[in-house]
Amino acid sequence: MSGVTLRLNGERWREHLLTVAEAIPGIVPVIKGNGYGFGLRRLAEESATLGADTVGVGMPSEVDVVREAFPGDVVILSPWDPSAELARKLTADSSVITTVSRLHDLELLAGRDGRPRVVVEVLTSMQRHGIRPDDLAQVAAWLPGVRFEGWTIHLPLHADGRYAEAERLARAALATAPGTLWFSHLPAEETAALARQLGGADADPVPVRQRVGTRLWLDRASRSTTATVLDVHEIKRGERAGYRQRVCPADGWIVVVAGGTSHGIGMEAPTSAKTVRHRAIAFATGSLAAAGLALSPYTINGKKRWFLEPPHMQSSQVFLPHKERPPRIGQEVPVELRLTTATVDCIAWN
Ligand SMILES: *Cc1c(COP(=O)(O)O)cnc(C)c1O
Repeated sequence: MSGVTLRLNGERWREHLLTVAEAIPGIVPVIKGNGYGFGLRRLAEESATLGADTVGVGMPSEVDVVREAFPGDVVILSPWDPSAELARKLTADSSVITTVSRLHDLELLAGRDGRPRVVVEVLTSMQRHGIRPDDLAQVAAWLPGVRFEGWTIHLPLHADGRYAEAERLARAALATAPGTLWFSHLPAEETAALARQLGGADADPVPVRQRVGTRLWLDRASRSTTATVLDVHEIKRGERAGYRQRVCPADGWIVVVAGGTSHGIGMEAPTSAKTVRHRAIAFATGSLAAAGLALSPYTINGKKRWFLEPPHMQSSQVFLPHKERPPRIGQEVPVELRLTTATVDCIAWN
C-alpha cells in the first residue's frame, strides 16, 4: 500500500516497554492524543499486558476508548472543567480519577454526592495548571467531601532546579494532607530518592506514582517510518512547479512523495528568501537554501532533501538535484516523523 508507513519491530518494542516499566515502579502509562502514533486502543492493550493498574488520559473524551482495552483505573490529566458535561458525568465513575486544579472546582466537587476520586494539582514552574503553593492549606477544608487520591506535580522538562522544586512543592502539599505524589517528568532515580527523603530516615518512603508517555512509548531503535514515492518528474532550472508556481533554482527532479500536512508532516528548517535580491542570488548560485526552500524530513539517497514548496495535505514535492539518480515510483524512502503529531496510513509490525 502506498502512503506513510510506521514499521515496528514488535518484539523489540515490547522489550523496551518492559525495561521502562521495570525501571519505573508505580508507572502510570500516559495514553492520549493520537496515541503517540500507535493509537489509543493499542496503548491501552499494551498497558494491560504490562500489568499497570492505572493509566492516564489527556481528556475526558479519551476515557471510553481506553477503557475498552484496559480494565484498571483511568486518571484524566487535564484539569476538571465543571462546564463540561462528560467531565461532570465521569466523576460518578468509580474507576475514574479526576484531576482538580482550582480551589473553586474542588469546592464544587466536594459539595456533590458520591465523593468523586480526585487528585489535586499543585502549580509548578510550568505555570500551566494547579493550585498555588501558598493556597494549598485551603485544600484541606474540602478533602472530606472527595476521595483524595493524592497530589499531582507536573514539572518542566529541563533538569535545572527540578529536584529542589519537586521537593519544595511536595513538602508544601504533604503539610496540607498526606497522600500519594503523582509526578510527571521527574526521572525515576530522582523520584525514588525524593520518596525516601520525604519519608524520613526511619520511615517508609512516601507513596509515589510516575506518569510517563514519551519515554515509554517512543523507542527510536524499534521503529522506522517511510513514505512511498508517488511520482518523479524531470525539471529544468527556471521552470515553475507546485501550488505556488515557484521557480525551480536548478536542474533536477521533482520527487512526489506520500505524506503532507494531513499526516502531520511539516517543515524542519524553513529558510527565507524574502527579498528579490535573495531570490536572484539563489537563482544565480542554484542554492536551494538561499532560494527559500525548506528542508524536508524525507531522506533520498542518504540525505535529507528540500521541499520545493511547503507541504500541503496528502503529498509533498521534494527537489533532487539533476546529478542524483531519482528513486523509482513505488519505492519507499525514509521520512522522519514526530509521532506525537503524526497520522500514518499504515502500521506494519514485524
Ligand atoms: C502528557 C502528560 C504526560 C506525559 O508526557 P510525556 O512527555 O509524553 O511523557 C505526563 N503528565 C501529564 C500531566 C501530561 O499531561
